[in-house]
Amino acid sequence: MRYAIQAEGLVKRYGETHALDGVDLAVPQGRLLGVLGPNGAGKTTAVRILATLLRPDEGTASVGGFDVTGQAHQVRSLIGLTGQYAGVDEMLTGVENLVMIGRLLGLPRAEARARAAELLERFALSDAGGRAAKTYSGGMRRRLDLAASLVGRPQVLFLDEPTTGLDPRSRTELWGVVRGLMADGVTVLLTTQYLEEADQLADDIVVFDHGRVIASGTSDELKATTGAQVLEVRPLQADHLDLVARVVTDITGETPDLTGGKAVASVHDPAVVAAVVRRLDDLGVVATELALRKSSLDEVFLAITGHRAEDESTAEKEEAFA
Ligand code: ATP
Repeated sequence: MRYAIQAEGLVKRYGETHALDGVDLAVPQGRLLGVLGPNGAGKTTAVRILATLLRPDEGTASVGGFDVTGQAHQVRSLIGLTGQYAGVDEMLTGVENLVMIGRLLGLPRAEARARAAELLERFALSDAGGRAAKTYSGGMRRRLDLAASLVGRPQVLFLDEPTTGLDPRSRTELWGVVRGLMADGVTVLLTTQYLEEADQLADDIVVFDHGRVIASGTSDELKATTGAQVLEVRPLQADHLDLVARVVTDITGETPDLTGGKAVASVHDPAVVAAVVRRLDDLGVVATELALRKSSLDEVFLAITGHRAEDESTAEKEEAFA
């Protein structure tokens, strides 16, 4: 299989910190790989190496068949990059930003203008195109940033946490834009801290933690690797929750989580559902919700790493404010 992005054994150290500690990646052409991991996991370092902005200490990587260190120039002609922090010039208008990039890429003026207009239209920014980017909302700025990375019609796009800090609506809009790019056949590597984002967009997912790939597969495969499905039982009467919890513990051997008025527990054998139903019936407990579902990616991350995806950032923030 031809991979648009391939990396083997990438290592990057900063003093004692192993930002990357032997990372392998392979993204087939036209697919979207979601790189999922908490703050400091090494996602940005991997993107910077693949986008030729940083040299690895060890390992090799290629994009479009070109080596990222030896053939950086060819790699740059194929890729687009959108960072966590929008890279557009705030003082320029949307049109001016895109035309400037087109000119820098060597497009004739008329072509640069046409491309800018086309992209502004596509990202629903035509009306705002004549305004300085500093007047844009966060979501608009992120769309302009993404448009900027597409001026050169990249075959491979790196989106480094493209929706961090966006409100839910802007996030959903940006997901729509990314889906459009995938329909155009662009290969995308998208980093995210949001499990839902990887679940929504990615064909394949790799999970980073402390500079290593700790799990990989499709969203469904990752959910299956925890070996567990999740049982949810919500009693009609809230004061029956403790009783439900006891039944679930007895039958599944797992202590359920009781937040939100329902008992939620991992189950390894789907047959337990019938047993739970029978026991609740015997006890006269009516359930308004009784479901067996696959684990969420959040639960998968917790099962693999032993901590929630946002633990590290929360700890860092607490440290910063201490
Ligand atoms: P975030 O979501 O916060 O961007 P990340 O997964 O992208 O996190 P990286 O930015 O790749 O993580 O950082 C990985 C590790 O390398 C972190 O511990 C970080 O502090 C460290 N690091 C990254 N760049 C540098 C640098 N220039 N100098 C020193 N340490 C660095």
